[in-house]
Amino acid sequence: MAGMMVFCTRSLLSRRSSSPALRHPFVSLLSRQISSEADSIVDRLKSSGLLRTQGLIGGTWTDAYDGKTLKVQNPATGDVIANVPCMGGRETIDAIGSASETFSSWSKLTAAERSKYLRKWYDLLIVHKEELGQLITLEQGKPLKEAIGEVSYGASFIEFFAEEAKRVYGDIIPATLPDRRLFVLKQPVGVVGVITPWNFPLAMITRKVGPALASGCTVVVKPSELTPLTCLAATELALQAGIPKGAINVVMGNAPEIGDALLESKQVRKITFTGSTATGKKLMAGAAGTVKRVSLELGGNAPCIIFDDADIDVAIKGAMAAKFRNSGQTCVCANRILVQEGIYEKFATAFSKAVQSMQVGNGFHEGVVQGPLINEAAVHKVEAFLEDAVSKGAKILVGGKRHSLGMTFYEPTVVTDVKNEMLISRDEVFAPVAPLLRFKTEEEAIHIANDTDAGLAAYIFTSSMQRSWRVSEALEYGLVGINEGIISTEVAPFGGVKQSGLGREGSKYGIDEYLEMKYICLGNLSN
Ligand code: ADP
Repeated sequence: MAGMMVFCTRSLLSRRSSSPALRHPFVSLLSRQISSEADSIVDRLKSSGLLRTQGLIGGTWTDAYDGKTLKVQNPATGDVIANVPCMGGRETIDAIGSASETFSSWSKLTAAERSKYLRKWYDLLIVHKEELGQLITLEQGKPLKEAIGEVSYGASFIEFFAEEAKRVYGDIIPATLPDRRLFVLKQPVGVVGVITPWNFPLAMITRKVGPALASGCTVVVKPSELTPLTCLAATELALQAGIPKGAINVVMGNAPEIGDALLESKQVRKITFTGSTATGKKLMAGAAGTVKRVSLELGGNAPCIIFDDADIDVAIKGAMAAKFRNSGQTCVCANRILVQEGIYEKFATAFSKAVQSMQVGNGFHEGVVQGPLINEAAVHKVEAFLEDAVSKGAKILVGGKRHSLGMTFYEPTVVTDVKNEMLISRDEVFAPVAPLLRFKTEEEAIHIANDTDAGLAAYIFTSSMQRSWRVSEALEYGLVGINEGIISTEVAPFGGVKQSGLGREGSKYGIDEYLEMKYICLGNLSN
């Protein structure tokens, strides 16, 4: 993910500064229209009580102790949606204290009781699906339909783990001595620090908080400073669902200071993080001081391999979905599209046609499937990657520049003749840019696909069942999609190998990340 920094202040320079294209009169007019639409959405959200703009400590909505705030901006317009507190170490310490105090009661509830609270929360998330979707589009930029889809997906983790809460089984181990009985108990880890990114403002939170609460843990959540509003709205709904005060605490602001407070605390027994590999490594190193558990979901560099024997329509549909979801801003987005030489030209032509037909614009507008990038830094990253690729012989077939809408809108792009040594193949581009690489043999494709430190998602398109298995087993990745471009679901384990992370989220395995095993030996039974 593109690294970025947010500064607390009372008068901020725009983080999402406008490009020269915004000065064009037509674009200014359009931007004003978009802004007034967004204003009325904000007003509706305010009156529904879902536009929360404070942190939550011990069930009390709280400002930063020094009164500092930071702006949350709409990436489609640059407008300020709200100011939220810019918190730091002191607020985090109090949030940890509150989570720790609540842990003693929350963890002692029966699983069935915790399950009921979570189910109620799930129901409320679904009832407010539209408003939460609007908030996601406002602060993150993705098209409304996709944003509402994220709400359903995000809520599904709460529903799933409400059910899993009741299935945390221990074990009885056959004893090695006749007068002993051996048991394994599963118990909640304790207070969990939850740190999440901006690309899925709801789902990245629920897939951590769902299993944490289900297992009896309490949490201190730090959402991304770029997209805290969805998290705050979802937390308001958790309170409405009756989840006890202090079970979920939310702080945001100075990320390193909050991170350090979480890492240094002995009460925080686990950190679960989704974000850049660089930050993940820092957190992992920082967790060593108190020997905390860590779950990390870090950057990917997903290969999408299209073999000559693939059904080309299925491959185009799958590659489009895998590449352009969330304007290319997901860690499972296809980062390198490897196409076998026999269908390379045909694929490139048909794929480019499909890419050209995508509508770019404000996520609130009907028919738009590609929103803006999150900010200027993200655009600069794409520009640098494309410049490097073109200087080394790649050719831009479609797009390749900022969109005429200005701001951080970027044209959906197809680049051909890409080589695995280019920057665009080495690192996540995190943008609507599809690099096409050519390969000859299956072995070569596997070699290129695995030639990276990342190992999160991979996709293959082939009509051969034998090849499907052979290649899936050879790929050094945590997730493999065969003839499918979108495979994430709450019922399957999500997570990477190599430097893409540690641990799994979702599925029956996801709850283990929040549980400790305790061995109990009952002895002297013959006395
Ligand atoms: P992204 O490219 O998504 O911004 P980051 O890793 O920078 O990736 O950010 C992901 C999350 O990690 C965000 O909530 C961010 O505020 C947080 N973060 C960044 N640096 C630190 C840090 N030093 N300690 C704790 N959290 C951090």
